[in-house]
Parts: sequence; structure tokens; C-alpha cells
Amino acid sequence: MNKTVKRILVILIILILLPAAFLTINEMTSLNQNEEVIRRIYSNQLDAILYSVNQYSEDVVSDWASKIDKFHDELDNFDDVEISSTIDSFYSQFPSLSIIFVADSADSEIKLIVEQNEDNNFLNKLGEFKKSVKNILSENQLIVDRLLTYKKAGYRKLEPIITDTTIDGSILLFIEESPEGLKRITGMVIDPKEFTYRILSPKLQEVARQEFLISVFNREENYQFNSSKDFKVGEVQQSKSLWIFPDYEIGISLVGQTIEDLVQQRAITNILLVGLLTVVLILGVWIVYRNIKKEVELAQIKSDFVSNVSHELRTPLSLISMFSETLEMDRIKTEEKKKEYYSIISQEANRLGKIVNSILNFSKMEAGKRQFNFVESYLNDVAENVFRSYKFHLEQKGFTFSIVKDESIPIISIDEEAVSEAIVNLVDNAVKYSDSKKEITILTGMQNNFAFVEVEDRGIGIPPKDQGKVFEKFFRVGSGNVHNIKGSGIGLSIVKHIVDAHKGKVELSSEVNKGSKFRLLFPLNKS
Ligand code: ADP
Repeated sequence: MNKTVKRILVILIILILLPAAFLTINEMTSLNQNEEVIRRIYSNQLDAILYSVNQYSEDVVSDWASKIDKFHDELDNFDDVEISSTIDSFYSQFPSLSIIFVADSADSEIKLIVEQNEDNNFLNKLGEFKKSVKNILSENQLIVDRLLTYKKAGYRKLEPIITDTTIDGSILLFIEESPEGLKRITGMVIDPKEFTYRILSPKLQEVARQEFLISVFNREENYQFNSSKDFKVGEVQQSKSLWIFPDYEIGISLVGQTIEDLVQQRAITNILLVGLLTVVLILGVWIVYRNIKKEVELAQIKSDFVSNVSHELRTPLSLISMFSETLEMDRIKTEEKKKEYYSIISQEANRLGKIVNSILNFSKMEAGKRQFNFVESYLNDVAENVFRSYKFHLEQKGFTFSIVKDESIPIISIDEEAVSEAIVNLVDNAVKYSDSKKEITILTGMQNNFAFVEVEDRGIGIPPKDQGKVFEKFFRVGSGNVHNIKGSGIGLSIVKHIVDAHKGKVELSSEVNKGSKFRLLFPLNKS
């Protein structure tokens, strides 16, 4: 690779690809961190919602506790209370609350405030219930003591008690204080399912709105209450115990997608974007690199071209000046020798003219200004003319030069001068690149919808890898190292240009050291 191209490649890599790589790696790592942050924020949000539900349920029961406290203060005598009408309306304030019990201390007698009941067995049941409560209180002495301490500090706390199966419902304990300063242990027996349905359900709907699904559930009892649409316990993304009913949980889930889905989607979009960016950058670098490489190569080729052309111009010029000076000094005595010198001068002037012409044609072609003048002609005639004008000259040089024509070729529309120039260029090359086997043939013929003229030689041939490139401007096989034949590298590009202007094709078959065949195909007239 050229030194300049290498340097540019290194600069490109340092300037674009390295920062891009850093950016990509940085983006990837920060992506992961961002995802973690998002996950945390979502999770915190869900937590906050669960917290608010818990807070709400605690506020409700706390409010109940205050009401019960006040009610007790109004009842001076505190035996089992069963004053039907008052009690009924009292209880109606607390949906899902089934029994309230009161005791002066953990081991004192249990008193109940119960609703009226038709059941005959009811009183019997109450006896059993009292026994159970007594057991529970003595088992949870620690909690009772703690509640008392809180109360002494002026703070009424509610504590859920894990109950055995003898009691139907969950117990919430708190300490109340009479106006005289007497402290009593009070318990509320609440049905959690009823509580969820009657009290929590509107709250759940309110906080869930359209965005979340909230569910109160108890795995052991296979119980589940949902804020709205059904969803399975397994789909719950985050859950917490209900403060007031520890054996119940409250769970939350995003409607539609899970947090993982959302985070994953975001991550995938981001990674795709970063990937796309990287690909675009790499593509950009590659395109820039290719263009620069091409430009550098073209600059190299152009400078080769200048030196090649100057050399091509210098050879005939120096011959002309040498022979004309010799003639001028009158050193040549015989007329025959003089004639030979004149002929050399005119030959070289001719050659010079041809080189200048082809450069002019080339520059016209490059500027897109070359005009073509299509006329109805016989391709055979054009080929024949080139053959005739070259025959003598080539045979002098020791070539076997022949033409084989297909007489059936019809008239086609071509620019005679341009086609003849193309054939001349091919013949010139055939001469230049012939080695010991000096044999050139011009062949005309038909192939599909084309008429063709072909120039074949037995020269040095063109390696397969270069066969596609010889028609590029300034291209010379091996940049003039493989063979030391002079040339400017524009002849075949002119040929290609001429054929293209005729909407024709060029075919090349060549084998190294065996020879080359260039076939120019021109489309037959439509009719
Ligand atoms: P140049 O002035 O170098 O001959 P051309 O455009 O005519 O430029 O040809 C391009 C290159 O193709 C030549 O440099 C030569 O290497 C190769 N080439 C062209 N014609 C022949 C041929 N008949 N035999 C072998 N090589 C050829």
C-alpha cells in the first residue's frame, strides 16, 4: 500500500474510529447503568403505590380504633355489651369488623361488644371465643407490653396478631385509654376478604387507574382480589405484606408490559441505534478511505502519465531535431541517404501528431465535449482502410498483417472516424505489445445483434487480474515495470469511450505470452 494512503488510514482510524469505539463502549456501559436506574425508579414507584395502599388501610382501621375508643368512653359500665339498637348502628360504621373485645390486662376477663344474633348457639360460641382470645393475649404478651409502652408515650399503635384457626378473621390489637386514664387492651376482629372488598377495593381502583393492576391475595388460601382485570398471582411484579393483615399480600403489575419488558425494549432500541451508528461510521470511514485511496492512486497515475507522455513526445522530437540538424549541416552526401532522413523526419512528425491528437481527443472526451457524427457505413470498409494504411508500414517492421472480413455485415450507423481511431489504437497496441511472434489479424463478423471488428496479436498478453482494468484511463499493466514499452495509458480508455458512444461493447480475451484479442461490437440497425 502506498505510504500516503497508509498514513491517511491511520489518521482516519485515530480521528473517527477510535472515538467512535470509545463512544460505543461508553454508551453500552452507561446503557446498563441507565437501565438499572430506570428499573430502580420503576420499582420505587411501584413500592410507593403499595405503600399508599397500606397507609390507607392503616388509616381506616386507626380511625375505627378512635371511634371504638370514644364509644367505650360513652359506656360507663363495661360488662359484655349487647344493647341491640345502639350496637347495630355502631357496627354498621365498620364493614367487615365482626367482633370487638376488650380486656383490662392480658390475664383479666375478656369482655365483648357483639351484635345481636338470632343463632341459639351464639352465646356458647362466645364463651369459646373468649377463651381463644385469652390464649392469644397471653401468647402475645410481648406485643401487648409494647403497645402499652407506646401508649404511655402518647402514641396509639395498632398491631396485627397472627391468630390460630379458632378465630374467624384477623385480629388487630390496640390500647385505649379511658378519660380517667385507665388503659384497656382492645381488639378488632376483621374479616380480611370483606375488608378488601368493602374498604380497599375503591382505593385500589383509584390508585391503579389504567396503568396498573393491583391485587390483594393470600397464597395459602388461594384467595385473590384484583383491582380490575384478572391477572394471575404469578404475574405480580412486586408485592408487599399488608401491614394490617400480615398473612395477606398486596401485589402490583404494570398493565400490558412488565418493567423488564420496558427496560429490555429500551435497551434493544438503544443497542440497535448504537450499532447502526457504528455501522454508519465504519461505512463512512471506509468510503472516505476508498475515495482518498483512489485520489492518491489517480494522482500517482497522473504523474506517471505526464512522465510517460513527455517521454513519448521527446523520442520523436529528438529524432526529428537530430536528423534535421544533420541535414542542415550538409553532412549527408548521397541523395538516397537524404531521402531516408527526410522520411524518418516525416514519420516521426506523424507519430508526434498522432500522440498530440490522441491527447487532445482524450481531453475532449474527459470534458465530455467529444462530438460523434453517426452515418450509415460499412464496418468492413472502415476496417479495410485502416488495414491498407498500416499494411506497408507493418510489413516493413516484419509483421504478418492480415484481414478477414465477413461480407454479410450490413450497413450500420457509426462515426467512421472514431471507429477507425479505435481500430488504429488497437493495432498500435498490438504492434507495441508484440514480442518475437509478429502476427496481427483484423477480423470482422457478426455476433447476436452486433457487428464486430477484432484485432488479434500474438504478443505478451495481459494477466487476468489486469484485464478488467486496461480500459481505465491512465492504467498501464504493472505501471510500466513489467514491460518497458512506452505509453500514456489513454489509448484503450479512448477505445472504450468510442464504443460506449455507439452503445456497443468491448470484449477482451488474452493470455500471457500467447497474445490478445480485442473485439469491438457495434449494434446493428434496428430495422
Ligand atoms: P498505453 O499507452 O500504455 O498502451 P493503453 O490504454 O492503450 O495505454 O493500454 C493500457 C495497457 O493495456 C497497456 O499499458 C498495456 O499494458 C495493456 N495492453 C493494451 N493492449 C495490449 C496488447 N495488445 N497486448 C498486451 N497488453 C496490452
